[in-house]
Amino acid sequence: MRRSFFLALLLAVAPTIAFSAEPRPNILLIVTDDLGYNDVGFQGARDIPTPHLDRLAASGLRCTDGYVSYPVCSPSRAGILTGRYQQRFGYEFNPKWDATALTHGLPLSETTLADGLRTAGYTTGAIGKWHLGAHPQFHPNRRGFDDFFGFLGGGHRYFPGSVVEVEIGAGKKATVSGDAEQNSPILRNSTAVPEVGELTTRLGEEATASITRYARDAKPWFLYLAFNAPHTPLQARADQLARFATITDERRRTYAAMVATIDEAVGRMLAALEATGQRERTLIFFISDNGGPMTKRNANASVNTPLRGQKGDVFEGGIRVPFLVSWPARIPAGRTYSQPIISLDILPTALAAAGTTRDAKLAALDGVDLLPFLTGKNTAAPHARLFWRMDGGEAFAVREGNWKWLHTYHNAPQLYDLATDLGETRDLAAARPEIAARLAAAAAAWNRGLIAPAFGNNPFGGLINRSGLEKNSAP
Ligand code: CA
Repeated sequence: MRRSFFLALLLAVAPTIAFSAEPRPNILLIVTDDLGYNDVGFQGARDIPTPHLDRLAASGLRCTDGYVSYPVCSPSRAGILTGRYQQRFGYEFNPKWDATALTHGLPLSETTLADGLRTAGYTTGAIGKWHLGAHPQFHPNRRGFDDFFGFLGGGHRYFPGSVVEVEIGAGKKATVSGDAEQNSPILRNSTAVPEVGELTTRLGEEATASITRYARDAKPWFLYLAFNAPHTPLQARADQLARFATITDERRRTYAAMVATIDEAVGRMLAALEATGQRERTLIFFISDNGGPMTKRNANASVNTPLRGQKGDVFEGGIRVPFLVSWPARIPAGRTYSQPIISLDILPTALAAAGTTRDAKLAALDGVDLLPFLTGKNTAAPHARLFWRMDGGEAFAVREGNWKWLHTYHNAPQLYDLATDLGETRDLAAARPEIAARLAAAAAAWNRGLIAPAFGNNPFGGLINRSGLEKNSAP
């Protein structure tokens, strides 16, 4: 009698729970590493076909003016996962690979996108490159992720036991075979697992398995998939290399095979989303963490055409990246979006899509919820200005509308009109001094909200060039 009463109650209530609201979307954030602006099909690459990424682009918006908040790996990721300019909390260099370094990682005072979604009832997973601190206190499982599969450092060789060379700048090379960071264990949560096969392929398989596994649960999920490809070392599967036999430059051929392996993995994930009926209600972001490194340390044969500069620069080639947003249930398909946006927007956009907001007691975000803009409800620019500072104040940049102002190292400030000069070739600082002065003042005002780097790991010697910080801290 009692059992049948509860059964009747359950039947009465269950449909209300299941169908009273639009289901919350799953969120899939795919970050590639050192991918060139022009190295995927949807961006115009001719020599690297990426049919699956192109299909993803066609299912949503290609954001032509999508930026990251820093032109190298780790600070960019700190911005992505917090939605805040990472210099606000002293994150301006790559951290040391050191499990005892308490300050080299994402400060515990910061909350992550995974924290926010987990609190909102999402299952959260991180796969791939972490690079937000090697000390156990910074482990993904302690930063909001229920599940982790990957490695904690800034890079990883792609095949177990392989000996490889990487460019270290000025035409010099070094092997990474003995490099502890490149050889760090592949972990499932905190347990080392055997290395099997090619790493990008494996990360894609893990992501596909997670998508399928999470689909069985009633909870929505957030998956952060951070490929370390196509970052050096340049290594790829033989069958992928064979597909690019017509590319005569060996390094470009290997790079192309690495990008194609990412594309293949994305194809498998899309197929898994479709097979489990989740594609329409999955919000997908696809970006690179910074521009392609063409000639500097860790150069990987990437191409940023038509942009000027590369990884490590505040020219467009360092900070403007391939940027896709797809959510078939809500966001129009097959269009481009050309207002400037930034990776800091991913966190508030994802939280809004999930129907949640941040605790008002937490520090303010710099990113904005892009949904009103991407769905066409709001046609204004999401940001009045975007800002960059690197190396503790050695370089600054500002974008306001089509104007781009920058002040790098010991050079005079420069001003470009990106509407007519995307390649930043004609400096208008002298011709338009009033605009240059306005943007310099805006950069100075923004800079007052930042702090000095909390740690530094300059690979070219010394920690931080304090003279540069002093020189440019009022840009
Ligand atoms: Ca990178």
